Amino acid sequence: MEQVGVHPSSRLYPGVVPDTAERVTRTVVLDFTSGGTPWRPTGLYAPPGERITVRAPAGIGEERLRVRIGSWNDTPMPNVGWANPEEFGRFGQLTVGRLLSETTSFGSPFGGLVFVEVGGGVALGPTEVTFEGVIEAPVFELGVTTNDAWVEQLATRHAPMGEIWTDVLHIDAETRVLATVTDAEGLATLWRDSVLAHAELVGQPPSERPNKYPQRFTFDPWESWGAHSGFPIHITQDWTEEVLDLPLLMSGGGEHWGPFHELGHNFQEDAWTFPGAWSEVTCNIHVVHACEVVLGLDKMACGNLADPASRAVARARYFASDVPYDASDWQVIESGLDMWLLLQEHGGGWDTLKQIFRRYRDLPASEVPRTPQAEVDTLVRFFSEALGRDLVPFFDHYKLPISEALRTELSMLPAWEDDPLAD
Ligand SMILES: [Zn+2]
Repeated sequence: MEQVGVHPSSRLYPGVVPDTAERVTRTVVLDFTSGGTPWRPTGLYAPPGERITVRAPAGIGEERLRVRIGSWNDTPMPNVGWANPEEFGRFGQLTVGRLLSETTSFGSPFGGLVFVEVGGGVALGPTEVTFEGVIEAPVFELGVTTNDAWVEQLATRHAPMGEIWTDVLHIDAETRVLATVTDAEGLATLWRDSVLAHAELVGQPPSERPNKYPQRFTFDPWESWGAHSGFPIHITQDWTEEVLDLPLLMSGGGEHWGPFHELGHNFQEDAWTFPGAWSEVTCNIHVVHACEVVLGLDKMACGNLADPASRAVARARYFASDVPYDASDWQVIESGLDMWLLLQEHGGGWDTLKQIFRRYRDLPASEVPRTPQAEVDTLVRFFSEALGRDLVPFFDHYKLPISEALRTELSMLPAWEDDPLAD
């Protein structure tokens, strides 16, 4: 039988499983119908270097499901697998997967949380799957687990990783940092509200966006790697407090920008995201929105990019520069967000943005802007029509290359009397 072995770096990450932790057999009912994110968490953990056995109903192999150990699906950098894990905090490739058959037996030299992955086209409803040789991980499920039960799980379950589950977001993290979360209900509710705020802003409630939920935050100990969006959203470990410290989050004292930003990437849309640095702009609209509506912070407390005084300085610098609107330049990241926020502040608030995002969503596929020119013209048109005013002079400050045809057309509208940039 194939030997697994414990990789020495697993003690660094994801961590050690005590010999005393009971290896158990657990049967979990998992829904394998396609839709939603492709991972079905089990709340179970595979110890490093030990084989687990997964038993599933006959014929399951035809569904091409995969069992995965470990929630990190990226490689920090090419060939990091042979680099010194002490330097990175974790080995390069941490995850191991196998196709799920009636009996699947394998292990990971690192260990990790256990998931079953569902590909497209699977229509297998609730199915019992039995996992042998696993240990239980602490799992807080919003609406099911009480704070007291969570604290008890933290004391009695010895997996080095645990999870917080809501219907729209799952968070996995090292148990030692989850142990700092005493009000798991409050924290899970805050993150659920944040995801829903991001979804509401773009007019795409979870029910209409089945492939996005639940999103997942997974922490990564290699801090210099930074964070990234996608599935899972990889959160650097130095953002632990930003994600898990509820009082800090609610007081505006934390640097909440990062996690909201990565989540924002998962909700921004190409149709209203111009080329160049704008992919780092439109995700930040979500950050400011969530700061205001979820955390109840004003823009000054939200972060430098949102602070009106900092924006005024950055705006003047960009207007005076020769940096083009589509540059991959920090100035565009600053001034691009400023453009959106001035529209939000002087053009009818978040409701106008929601109305415009919904208008994009309702466009027939053939009318969705797909070229830089069409993207610019569509945004200028949609804002001008939403306010019933010619916003070309406003957008000109930001050097947007608006077509002559659209300029002529919008010039029939009245001037924008609330233009914050008018002379
Ligand atoms: Zn980004």
